[in-house]
Amino acid sequence: MHRENCARYDELRTPLCYVCQSPRMISISDRDGFRHLSCGACRLVRLHPDHFVSGNSFYTEPYFNGQMYSETKGKYGYPTCYADLSTTYRAAHYREYINEIVSLFDIEQIRTLKALDFGCGYGFFLKTLLENTNGISEIEVSGIELDAGVCARARANLHDALVYCVDLKTDESIVPRDYFDIITMLDVLEHLDNPRVYLQRLAECAKKNGYLLLSTPNIESFNAWLYGDRWALHSPPYHTYYFGPRSIRILLEQTGWRIVDLYTERTIFHNERSGRETWRGKLARALFQNRFWDQLSNRVMHIGSIMIVVAQRC
Ligand SMILES: [Zn+2]
Repeated sequence: MHRENCARYDELRTPLCYVCQSPRMISISDRDGFRHLSCGACRLVRLHPDHFVSGNSFYTEPYFNGQMYSETKGKYGYPTCYADLSTTYRAAHYREYINEIVSLFDIEQIRTLKALDFGCGYGFFLKTLLENTNGISEIEVSGIELDAGVCARARANLHDALVYCVDLKTDESIVPRDYFDIITMLDVLEHLDNPRVYLQRLAECAKKNGYLLLSTPNIESFNAWLYGDRWALHSPPYHTYYFGPRSIRILLEQTGWRIVDLYTERTIFHNERSGRETWRGKLARALFQNRFWDQLSNRVMHIGSIMIVVAQRC
């Protein structure tokens, strides 16, 4: 893997920060021997390119359907409950994101909302969107995924909607340009080998003034600080880039987007990958998770584990 990557990710091998170009970089190794580069200026943490693995070989059906999760004892991949829309706890988040998206548009004016979900997995977010139109008369959904089998499952879940089986970084031809009103990128950015290129491509796919809604782990969160490399979202080699409010702002501005909203999710004390909390998580939640702490930690301090960003194409 090491030798293959030496040539492959040459452009990412830089002594400066990937995002802000600062020379204040620190190299750190986690307990499993994965080397990370941490920026003292914008706080970006990224996996060293030596450890990168091709997305095409990673994000196949076993990653999404629970097989990899059970084979690696919960270390990698999605648990089975994630692959079932009726049981995944993400469904509630999806509905919140949809409310957020709908609030961006004048629903009297918009005839057909064109939505693209980048890294759509089995299409559950788009399916939730189709089932919760919130007054929008028509929604046209499209998805992008890497693996043919995963794309086929997504199409089946979405009544044969367009799901592009493509790596947007290298193939620019088939996804329409200047087309989408809203592009979503939910828990995807942290998996990419070169997020700048994908964000640029997505800016080209969005209409002028079109929106991007993304969710990604927050490296500046309370949990990231508290747990270090035991943080549930510290997950090399799958997670390659860990952004925070500072670094994501810089990267979005470099790629043709401007931030219109940024907040974090109420997951301060939640560190269980399965989504099933331990007694410690439940106790902490009972004590601290209330409206006051929610507003303060997520809307003011931005220290929740998941960062949500809404950006508009410049
Ligand atoms: Zn930096």
